Amino acid sequence: MASIFSKIINREIPAYIVAEDNNFIAFLDINPLAEGHTLVVPKQEIDYIFELPDQDIAQLFVFAKRVAQSIERVVPCKRIGLSVIGLEVPHSHIHLVPLNAVNDINFAKPKLDFSREQYLALAKKIKDAFK
Ligand code: 5GP
Repeated sequence: MASIFSKIINREIPAYIVAEDNNFIAFLDINPLAEGHTLVVPKQEIDYIFELPDQDIAQLFVFAKRVAQSIERVVPCKRIGLSVIGLEVPHSHIHLVPLNAVNDINFAKPKLDFSREQYLALAKKIKDAFK
């Protein structure tokens, strides 16, 4: 069965997409640790990130770098943190989280809640800043 992220990639379910090319997509996490928390996902559905072929994992990180730079242009923060968890969704992905303090990327913390309008506005700003 297709992963929830493949369903987003195939436009079967909605997401606040901030960047996309032929091989990768980035969208806002629906249970964010911080404003601008974004997932960067290869379109190829491989569960464990360290099972991606070398070239794909390298390109994934290069794409994630561009997404991180676009988040930084929009969300005030000291830097963008990066984490790989993968315990919930069996489709490789990188979390990009704007950081001001180390605890901002603590996945045990309660998640934030934003309105649809807030997500839409933020996604548009990050998308417009993507180069
Ligand atoms: P992980 O697999 O890295 O442990 O966690 C999966 C992440 O994907 C979580 O942060 C969760 O909030 C996010 N997530 C799960 N389902 C969806 C979804 O349908 N849409 C979006 N945008 N994010 C999701």
